Amino acid sequence: MFGVKLLEERIRAEGKVRENGSVLKVDSFLNHQMDMELYDAMGAEFYRLFGGEGVTKLLTIEASGIGIACVAGLHFHVPVVFAKKGKTKNIDGDIYTALVHSFTHGQLYEIMVAREFIQPGDRVLLIDDFLAKGAALEGLIHIVEQAGATVVGAGVCVEKAFQPGGDALRQKGYRIEALARIKSMSDEDGVEFC
Ligand code: 5GP
Repeated sequence: MFGVKLLEERIRAEGKVRENGSVLKVDSFLNHQMDMELYDAMGAEFYRLFGGEGVTKLLTIEASGIGIACVAGLHFHVPVVFAKKGKTKNIDGDIYTALVHSFTHGQLYEIMVAREFIQPGDRVLLIDDFLAKGAALEGLIHIVEQAGATVVGAGVCVEKAFQPGGDALRQKGYRIEALARIKSMSDEDGVEFC
């Protein structure tokens, strides 16, 4: 079981609030240097939450989702696929694409997954490090739906619950699980959890 507030404790101790309280930097254990003990605990917790759902594939988006998706993949014993960013030179039409608005860079980019790696029968769990406005997960959902596969849900490490993505996706019927949910954050007061 996930050490109850393991991730919250690390965020409290090491997280840095930026951009007037809208961006959390966690470079010392999640997004640059990676604490593999913590990663392993998070992967185990995603498996505890979704292990009974018959997941056949994990899907994430490059770059920052790949690390946690890989570790989670070791718990689920299923392949991990990551959506690639940027214009593709593939002209064979054997790819699924979606447009995603980047929260951190403020621009629109294309993501793509080769058709061969998501099949109609697949039960796909989406994994990402952060959930903010939900654009990254919406893009991944769009790709899974194009493939005729099933979205089992999404596991994210950190949900900024004061931003609208998580609730909007839940309202659409998707099961969204976050290992830490932030209610509010500011430079002065730090981070408050739900
Ligand atoms: P969304 O698409 O839900 O708006 O944003 C999610 C994506 O943006 C994640 O893949 C993550 O990489 C990035 N992101 C959003 N908010 C934050 C944040 O506060 N800190 C970090 N480090 N990444 C974020």
